[in-house]
Amino acid sequence: MNPLTSSDTSTPLASARHQLREAIDHLGYDEGTYSILANARRELTVSVPLRRDDGSIETLTGYRVQHNLSRGPAKGGIRYSPMVELDEVRALAMWMTWKCALLRVPYGGAKGGIALDPRQYSVGELERITRRYTSEIAHFIGPDRDIPAPDVGTDEMTMAWMMDTFSVNAGHTVLGVVTGKPLGLGGSRGRASATSHGIGHVSLAALDHVGVARTGATGAVQGFGKVGRGAAVFLADAGVRVVAVSDQYGAIFNSNGLNIAALEQHVDREGTVVGFGESDPMDADALLLLDVTVLVPAAVEGVLTKANAGDVRARAIVEGANGPTTPEADKLLADNGVLVVPDIFANAGGVIVSYFEWIQSSQSYWWSEADVEEKLKERMLHTWEQLRDRAEADGRTLRATATAIAVERVADAHRLRGLYP
Ligand code: NAD
Repeated sequence: MNPLTSSDTSTPLASARHQLREAIDHLGYDEGTYSILANARRELTVSVPLRRDDGSIETLTGYRVQHNLSRGPAKGGIRYSPMVELDEVRALAMWMTWKCALLRVPYGGAKGGIALDPRQYSVGELERITRRYTSEIAHFIGPDRDIPAPDVGTDEMTMAWMMDTFSVNAGHTVLGVVTGKPLGLGGSRGRASATSHGIGHVSLAALDHVGVARTGATGAVQGFGKVGRGAAVFLADAGVRVVAVSDQYGAIFNSNGLNIAALEQHVDREGTVVGFGESDPMDADALLLLDVTVLVPAAVEGVLTKANAGDVRARAIVEGANGPTTPEADKLLADNGVLVVPDIFANAGGVIVSYFEWIQSSQSYWWSEADVEEKLKERMLHTWEQLRDRAEADGRTLRATATAIAVERVADAHRLRGLYP
């Protein structure tokens, strides 16, 4: 099967290429443009040997993929998960390219990761893994080349280790090599909550769009990690009744709305939403099918498929995760009138404030939280208006429109730069 022409959409990479194909056809671009954009510019696979705490040696596999560099340095998260494999990283890198172009952030897309379950390793082992991985990809990354950030299974500590390893090898401190750093080490105010706040602003705009007042609205959030937890807090603070949340261990439900502040304390104590007192357990898959106003999938890709999308009762889906909806599911949801606010827009708050962090690092001048929050909100809502208006004018979905706008901008950069040699 030719991966460039296949209509297969069973993997994240196949879905990403399918979305690209639709955009290329809509824009009337040629096969050459498709082939440049369907393939990553650079891919690196590295071995990461680790000395475990018991003295044994284990060798892990890590990746860094730079999908596109036409608009600036590459940018994208580092994922630590047992599911990480090269094709998934390629898809996530491609979506980063579209996200940056759509939000007019001057980067191309990248992604990286190591196939491991972080819960199986001590903090010391995770530090050694991160430092060895960083030194293996060091010639590939840098403030002007490729700037990693946290993603699933990584956090600001991981970024501090990456920054330190890169800097020690460079012989001087290089703050701009990663974003999502701790505040005391050149991080930006508002970065940790940026993705969630972006999702929150967009969710409220989506509620307006479907004509439901936020005080009468209900929400469900899949995933209670860096993205889902903050999104649940934001929505509850805005008056939305968040009735269900889940994590990898299970799901909980309360029709009166979950007390999110109390739930946060429970999660900090227990490490899971499961067992939260003021709620009932529910089937995790059924959370996606609840009759709520807004559903926020904020865990992993491929959770809304042709098998369940026809049964979704939410009025709007705001994609916190990358790639939660397969193309077949997208079609079913559109046919059923469910508004899908696509990942490459909805979860872009993180890369927007990462961009702000990179600017602040390069100027050694730090903005106030209010400045960051205001600029984030303004950029998200401005893009929302453009996207909504163009989707309505073209009679196409928000995802198809967002992808087409992004592909147009990236293809334009290629055209203006020309093809070397
Ligand atoms: P995280 O590791 O902090 O949290 C992931 C959460 O999902 C955890 O609560 C985990 O228990 C849960 N989970 C995993 N599998 C699940 C399943 N099958 N069902 C229900 N819950 C499940 O990761 P994160 O940073 O919050 O990222 C979540 C998603 O958001 C990913 O798709 C990531 O690429 C995307 N994203 C993250 C950022 C960011 O700034 N962190 C930015 C943009 C997009």
